[in-house]
Amino acid sequence: MNDCIFCKIIAGDIPADIIYDDDQTMAFRDINPVAPVHVLVIPKYHYENIADLDKALSGLLIDVACQVAGSEGVAKSGFRLVANSGPDGGQVVPHVHWHVIGGRRLDAAIG
Ligand code: 5GP
Ligand code: ZN
Repeated sequence: MNDCIFCKIIAGDIPADIIYDDDQTMAFRDINPVAPVHVLVIPKYHYENIADLDKALSGLLIDVACQVAGSEGVAKSGFRLVANSGPDGGQVVPHVHWHVIGGRRLDAAIG
């Protein structure tokens, strides 16, 4: 998708701090981190919504997110996986992404 900012990162047209890259997925640091660790995990194919993913890709993304938590050193201290979906979910970038957030004690509240 031409005007998608994450597709542009995948294509290398926009710089990003990429910490993981394979044939189907990529992970890079959020440009506006809310915690010491804030990484976005995305599929390389453009899907808008997590509900559009098949089981295999859904599982792969969660697996990569957990690997990222490990490589970022927050697997034991704890982290949060968030996938905002659609307008009411607060999704701003319409390319599926999981936020991996950690490195500080997060508010228990959701929403
Ligand atoms: P959403 O609200 O859609 O779940 O989250 C989108 C996230 O993408 C936000 O946390 C925002 O900071 C991040 N973001 C938006 N544009 C860019 C960008 O160009 N580069 C990076 N690395 N992150 C971005
Ligand atoms: Zn995209």
